[in-house]
Amino acid sequence: MTDTANPTGKCGTNAGYEAHRHAGTPTCGPCRAAHSAYTTAWRLRPEVGAHDHRRQKARRRALARLGREYPQRFSELLADELRGASE
Ligand SMILES: [Zn+2]
Repeated sequence: MTDTANPTGKCGTNAGYEAHRHAGTPTCGPCRAAHSAYTTAWRLRPEVGAHDHRRQKARRRALARLGREYPQRFSELLADELRGASE
């Protein structure tokens, strides 16, 4: 144990970071790094993008451009989707 004692003994994980916080012990480097990676992954999780209005507008514009650049293929895909085909 170090002077940044973690009651879970799981330093280097987000759970370890939370345990430091709960116990009131100073966070150690590995726990801070794990917490940073965890929060970054949380912020970039895919379902957030799905609700991001700016991203959705950009996606629609990109699809419109794709349709203009590849009209034949776009028509085929659209027809497939209208028929309910998935593959
Ligand atoms: Zn730690």
